[in-house]
Amino acid sequence: MNLLIQKFGGTSVGSPQRIKDLAKLTCDTTPKIVVLSAMSGTTNALVEICETLYNKDNAKVNPLIQSLEDKYRLVVHDLFSETEALQKGMQLLQQHFDYIRGFTLDMFTANEEKAILAQGELLSTALFQYYLETQKQTSVLLPALQFMRLDTNEEPDMAYIEQQLTETLAQYPTTPFFITQGYICRNAFGEIDNLKRGGSDYTASIIGAALRSPEIQIWTDIDGMHNNDPRIVQPTHPIHHLSFDEAAELAYFGAKILHPTCILPAQKRNIPVRLKNTMQPQAEGTLINNTNSSEGIKAIAAKDGIVAINIKSERMLLAYGFLRAVFEIFERHKTPIDMITTSEVAVSLTIDSTIHLNDILIELKEIASVQVEMEQTIISIVGQIPKDKAGYGYKVLEALQHIPLRMVSYGGSSNNVSVLVNSVHKKEALVALNKGLFGY
Ligand code: ADP
Ligand code: ASP
Ligand code: MG
Repeated sequence: MNLLIQKFGGTSVGSPQRIKDLAKLTCDTTPKIVVLSAMSGTTNALVEICETLYNKDNAKVNPLIQSLEDKYRLVVHDLFSETEALQKGMQLLQQHFDYIRGFTLDMFTANEEKAILAQGELLSTALFQYYLETQKQTSVLLPALQFMRLDTNEEPDMAYIEQQLTETLAQYPTTPFFITQGYICRNAFGEIDNLKRGGSDYTASIIGAALRSPEIQIWTDIDGMHNNDPRIVQPTHPIHHLSFDEAAELAYFGAKILHPTCILPAQKRNIPVRLKNTMQPQAEGTLINNTNSSEGIKAIAAKDGIVAINIKSERMLLAYGFLRAVFEIFERHKTPIDMITTSEVAVSLTIDSTIHLNDILIELKEIASVQVEMEQTIISIVGQIPKDKAGYGYKVLEALQHIPLRMVSYGGSSNNVSVLVNSVHKKEALVALNKGLFGY
């Protein structure tokens, strides 16, 4: 079966009206799997509930749970007018919120947290399916917790996912409409887990890759990937085409519209990804595929929370093996490095996770002198930037001439020029690049 994958983010299911609109948008004859996020605000509310539970602040947690439940009660009242459907909707809420309340008495660990975070997507998909039922639209809910699994490296277990999904879908040869939860999964031990914040995009591309779908569509609240972060810079414009490599760079380096790793599964199986606007379905959006795009700079993205580490050693001078020794430390602590620049006696590199920072620093200090700078931002300038063409580096640096640059990375790939700035200069840098590179 050739199933189109359509993922809808939090705002696309963010109110009863949006859920009703979504039913209209999706109910056509194209066979599909609809992947849903939690209603907007829900995962944040669940995160807050979990933080309160960690702190054993029961006086605060009950009102938080109650206020989320009240919000859902309004949703259910709006969605279902007939008594039977309304009752069914209310029962669903009771089941999920009783489950969440159950944790107020228990010991609270990361496992319980993940079980609570999963409730948002479980609720949105169940409500959407109930609503379709009332509209006489047949659909099948595929529980993601039955097929979406991570392996021991916390990577999607593609063989398992493919097998489980194919077997399940084969049970419904005539159903063209499936619904499933984004974001949630199980880990290699069968416990409830998730694909990290924003992970519903990743779910969609994993499913699309597993089923070799004709297309993976990511529907959100904007008309595709823009040339700059529209939350920070005005004006911006949508980009109609990106290559997989360009889109992957933008997603990884901070374009929030896509989860950082969601391009990879699609790229591996050469499945086009299309970004669309739920509020403006007729807008062209962005097509991402394996076609090389035209020469030039397409877009800029920024990734915050970066730590720069400067490692200086006289032993690096004329020596080999020093960089290997440095990289092995990061490898041992499973911490990926994003940017690197070197000189004869020093190397600067960046990481975006501080989980193992202290251990890394202890080991680095055994072989070199080390300086750390927190709160840095990587700004990535992405497009087709041929290495044999003059002018691109100049244009970027000229636009940023008034901003202190901590690191510059050029030539690593023909898709990316990156600079590292202190986060206080982020907005200024994005605005300057919007002007210098796009003429705004
Ligand atoms: P969803 O909840 O549908 O997954 P997200 O909030 O995760 O939606 O992603 C969409 C948002 O990403 C947009 O509303 C926009 O503010 C933000 N965004 C950041 N950078 C970009 C960009 N380069 N192009 C488009 N949107 C971007
Ligand atoms: N609901 C999850 C989040 O808010 C996953 C997603 O929306 O993609 O992060
Ligand atoms: Mg998102």
